[in-house]
Amino acid sequence: MIGQTNILVIYTGGTIGMVQDPKTMALRPLSFDILYKYLPVLENFNCTIDFYTFEPLLDSSNMNPSFYIHLATVIEEKYEDYDGFVILHGSDTMAYTASALSFMLENLNKPVIFTGSQLPIGMVRTDGRENFINSIEIATAKEYDTPVVPEVAICFENKLYRGNRTSKFNAEHFGAFVSVNYPLLAEVGVHIKYNQNLILKPNFKKLKALKTLDENITILKLFPGISSQAVEAILHTKDLKAVILETFGSGNAPTIPWFIDHLQDAITRGIIIYNVTQCKGGTVEMGKYETSAGLNKIGVIGGYDITTESAVTKLMYLLGSGYSQESIKQLLQTSLRGEMTV
Ligand code: ASP
Repeated sequence: MIGQTNILVIYTGGTIGMVQDPKTMALRPLSFDILYKYLPVLENFNCTIDFYTFEPLLDSSNMNPSFYIHLATVIEEKYEDYDGFVILHGSDTMAYTASALSFMLENLNKPVIFTGSQLPIGMVRTDGRENFINSIEIATAKEYDTPVVPEVAICFENKLYRGNRTSKFNAEHFGAFVSVNYPLLAEVGVHIKYNQNLILKPNFKKLKALKTLDENITILKLFPGISSQAVEAILHTKDLKAVILETFGSGNAPTIPWFIDHLQDAITRGIIIYNVTQCKGGTVEMGKYETSAGLNKIGVIGGYDITTESAVTKLMYLLGSGYSQESIKQLLQTSLRGEMTV
């Protein structure tokens, strides 16, 4: 490492920042003044760590696009002062926030590492200590003065994932995340082994924070027996601009005429329909089966192997950026930040 490394830790809320009140046993947010009491080892890092705390602290179920904009603004404003950012965030919607930030931070050339924990940092068996320390180490890692991980990533249970490729899949295990369609960016053992060829490369351009998000989207999750009324009601949501159609397997949906008619009507009204599979792994292949050929014909857009979390935030970002509908349809089938395999 050359020179002094500065890391900004942004505390947004979630379990990781909690301590248990010894009297009431209730969980309450920790003040960072006393963080070093729980993590004295932080003093041994060869870097300066500053803290920025959100107010109010949020359980990640309460995160929304306004919060994403606030977070992107903090990173934008502090970007030149720090070598990397560690975001302490609840794990429940961490994959959404990490995906959103990956799209909003264009030309990102520094690490933005999300982490959290399943047990509060103030508990003896916490997983937060190791997640926090690993994230700091990863955020400081440089080679020839260039960050090793210049992208938005999630660090959890000794694994580093591309943020916009992850989903939370376990509410109890310390290993809470999965990224089935993209390999790990790094694995933490005795050494931190970076998979350099899988990590995005810096482009050394100036950071641009894109902070207009459009929330007029929804998800239509298919299930066997879904009714015509339910589909129609969702597709007539006021001001709707795009729908993520969560399909079966490799992008399949019922061939029943009323279903195709509802989708066709929505497309005619200018609504984008984005086909994303309900499976955690694998890809949408429009036209592989008869059950997706009809979707293809009426102009449904295939999302390849994108996660729902990434699809939601990519749509918000693209719709908010003022592109024409044709460009949006094209960009939905293009990998912008390594979020899909085309
Ligand atoms: N409910 C918490 C949250 O997502 C759980 C966690 O912190 O992991 O904010």
